[in-house]
Amino acid sequence: MPATAIPGAPCPPRRIFCIGRNYAAHAAELGNALPDSPVVFLKPPTALVPHGADVLLPMEAAGLHFETELVVCIGRDGICRAESDAPAFIHGLSLGFDLTQRDLQDTLKKQGLPWEKAKAFDGSAPAGDIVPFAPFRHDLRRLTFSGAVNGAIRQHGDTALMLFPIPRLLVEISRWWRLEAGDLVFTGTPSGVGPVDRGDVLSASAPWCGEFSWTLR
Ligand code: ZN
Repeated sequence: MPATAIPGAPCPPRRIFCIGRNYAAHAAELGNALPDSPVVFLKPPTALVPHGADVLLPMEAAGLHFETELVVCIGRDGICRAESDAPAFIHGLSLGFDLTQRDLQDTLKKQGLPWEKAKAFDGSAPAGDIVPFAPFRHDLRRLTFSGAVNGAIRQHGDTALMLFPIPRLLVEISRWWRLEAGDLVFTGTPSGVGPVDRGDVLSASAPWCGEFSWTLR
């Protein structure tokens, strides 16, 4: 099966990086301590669902939560060594959802086990079309966005509230993984996460990218 492509991205991603606990209010609502450095986990490219397609959940999909997140699309290969170099690595921006099986994640966390079943399942990474990054138009420290379930807004995001701003995330990821064009980075969710189920419609929107939505099936 061909790899899923996201409109506006330079190529289908080979990796989807995700950041955990990047907003203090969200860490607090889940009872997590604030991290000293970014929490990084990955989803496989098969988790991706482009705008316009339904999210086809796997057989096992219980206790689902939505997490609305700003998504960064990497535009070139290399190691981002300094935060000042980060803008040159950014091809574009979008919004997406880090779908999470929360009850299962809580169980895995308590047992000290990896999160993949709870975070990296098929369909767990819906992502909107990539908007070209324009440094004069997009201030990475002042991007707002919102997430809605069945038309009711549930989350407001503002990159000003990130514990680790986007340039720092690219430097951190680069310490373990050489960045590649097409990589996606889900940058963490603000507070307001909550349950969703099959049949619900998730929407993410921002003045700088428009609105993207998905139905959970
Ligand atoms: Zn998340």
